Amino acid sequence: MPINPFHQAGRFYKGNLHTHSTTSDGVLGAEEVCRRYRERGYDFICLSDHFLPAYKFPITDTRPFRTEGFTTILGAEVHVPDTDLGEKWHLLANGLPLDFEPTRPGETAPEIAARCAAAGAFVSMVHPAWNSLSLADASSITAAHAIEVYNHTSAVKTDRGDGTVLLDQLLSRGHRLNALACDDAHFEADDAFGAWVMVKALSRDPDALVAALKAGHYYSSTGAEIHDMRFEGDELVVACSPASGVYLQGKGSRAAQLLGRDITLARLPAHKMGKHGFMRVTVVNAHGQRAWSNPIWRDEH
Ligand SMILES: [Zn+2]
Ligand SMILES: [Zn+2]
Repeated sequence: MPINPFHQAGRFYKGNLHTHSTTSDGVLGAEEVCRRYRERGYDFICLSDHFLPAYKFPITDTRPFRTEGFTTILGAEVHVPDTDLGEKWHLLANGLPLDFEPTRPGETAPEIAARCAAAGAFVSMVHPAWNSLSLADASSITAAHAIEVYNHTSAVKTDRGDGTVLLDQLLSRGHRLNALACDDAHFEADDAFGAWVMVKALSRDPDALVAALKAGHYYSSTGAEIHDMRFEGDELVVACSPASGVYLQGKGSRAAQLLGRDITLARLPAHKMGKHGFMRVTVVNAHGQRAWSNPIWRDEH
């Protein structure tokens, strides 16, 4: 049985959904950030500056920097008080209107997440390991579409890039969230071009890309590729770029794997993940670069 996005029409577009410019606390201007990603071969980015009063609640207008082969999604990283630990929330919203209303006094994280989603955005919880987002925190954001499984800047600057622990805790408790890998580049360290999404869409149009993101029609990467995933009987068959490990992860402790050298096709025991719940795939290559599928829910296949 085919699994999306691999069996639907369109092509893959490479993009980074989380980046900052001098409009907030980044080092480079918006035009230069767009130029660098464009020259690196990206199909799109979202300049997600910090939506804070100190920066006058910016939605950075990157429309002038779109070209024939490169587009931008408008959005922001929004903040409200307070996580479990009393720190401000960080939520990524890809696909906001330029006139998105500033945060309201007393607005909570679940409320602003819902307001971003209602405005059309793809909403994610970001860098959960860096700021110790708790399971209770994350469970409260019912409007979120995804959670970062990898944040490149958090990996480079704090060695806290991984978000898979929190994702799997949420999935194991029935929360339906997708995975997301992002740079979160500020260009003050070597923090760009380390993590991205591959979105399957019919065109590079920003609205088509946001719709595909919300539908989960993408996978995430730091360098490995997933070419195909399909069910054949009890097995999940994964085609990928040459890998040293192809992993299947399910509820709680459930996991399976194929280990070796230059694996490009893996047949994994999907039935061991149980008749209910989720499974997801991670591909790891010899350089430690990864690709993460979004979770597959058995009741949808
Ligand atoms: Zn942040
Ligand atoms: Zn950020």
